[in-house]
Amino acid sequence: MHLDTSAESGEEPPARRLLRTLKQFSPAGRGFWSDIPDSDWNDWRWQLRHRITTAEQLQRLMPTLTPEEYAGATLANHKLALAITPYFFNLIDPADENCPIRWQVIPRVEETQTASWEMSDPCGEDAHSPVPGLVHRYPDRVLMLVTDRCAAYCRYCTRSRLVSNASGYDFHPEFDQQIEYIRRTPAIRDVLLSGGDPLLFSDEKLEALLSRLRAIPHVEFLRIGTRIPIFLPQRITPQLCEMFRKYHPLFVSIHSNHPRELTTEVRDALGRLADAGIPLGNQSVLLRNVNDDATVMKALVQKLLICRVKPYYIYQCDLIAGSAHLRTSVRKGLEIMESLRGHTTGYAVPQYVIDAPGGGGKVPVSPEYVLSRNADRVVIRNYEGKIFEYPEATDGTPLVAAPKEIEEPELV
Ligand code: SF4
Repeated sequence: MHLDTSAESGEEPPARRLLRTLKQFSPAGRGFWSDIPDSDWNDWRWQLRHRITTAEQLQRLMPTLTPEEYAGATLANHKLALAITPYFFNLIDPADENCPIRWQVIPRVEETQTASWEMSDPCGEDAHSPVPGLVHRYPDRVLMLVTDRCAAYCRYCTRSRLVSNASGYDFHPEFDQQIEYIRRTPAIRDVLLSGGDPLLFSDEKLEALLSRLRAIPHVEFLRIGTRIPIFLPQRITPQLCEMFRKYHPLFVSIHSNHPRELTTEVRDALGRLADAGIPLGNQSVLLRNVNDDATVMKALVQKLLICRVKPYYIYQCDLIAGSAHLRTSVRKGLEIMESLRGHTTGYAVPQYVIDAPGGGGKVPVSPEYVLSRNADRVVIRNYEGKIFEYPEATDGTPLVAAPKEIEEPELV
């Protein structure tokens, strides 16, 4: 049996050391692009033009590519394209086959295997689409898909049926029809722009959409879902942030899965958005080999708060075709939530959700803290496993005196 003697020896325990290391901010570095002028490297359009998009490029830059990865990269253009920005590529550890960054963006041959329970549209978006590119699933809000392009492609993408157009979906959002539908549906008070990644649009094109939406009186609240701050922090320019200021209340949901993605460049980009008054939330997908670990997830959520981002959701990986190698169990997700709640700042604890297969919407799942409940009392446990009773009023009115049968709730 291994005994942890670190406390006696005064050494830092391994989990704490790992947490501290993962929370450090470092720049991505220049890697193969060390001779590129700063003006190019920091130009988001240069980054897009120089993305790695073929198996050959990938192998040249990373000779440690495994046969599974090479085969995956070769086949990617029939399913979900391969694209990695030079900036994000520099976060990959070429010496580590299990590098969590690598698993997210380098295709693997396992993507070609589809289990019988997997789907091309696991959230049933197409079935809830009244006009092309608009998903109206919940009563008071809509998802407005504005593009099928992203700065880089996540191998587990829920919308891989349409993003990158490698599968021939031929996505054509109809902005006029989308906006007209929103205009004539007064119940819609919240519009989420997503895709693909809306921040790939020029400032002018994005502003044209935001201003048309903002002009609809019943639209109270705008949101943008984007992974650009993580894949391409250079895109978060002061000009973009200045433009966003005009369209408040405007929230931005980013997508980060591992604390190593939060570099100094990303921290600065998120700081620019936060300084423009934009509330920031993060959505993570629980992924095998990436973040299915309590220390990694704790480092991620704590580091997000340092970047002024509220951890919002952890998604159980959707049943997207070809994603089994990246999926981890709900049991593991619950274990991770258990390791966060009470063990770190409440603001750092996201909601763990499963998007119900086929289009049932997000269902929160959480470890069981209510052990039993009847008309008189609720028995609960805290994060340390201690049991408590809370007296309940039988008729639902606020309790002013303990019910007779509970004299003093016994606190453990
Ligand atoms: S950035 Fe979002 S939409 Fe684009 S590939 Fe990744 S998960 Fe899919």
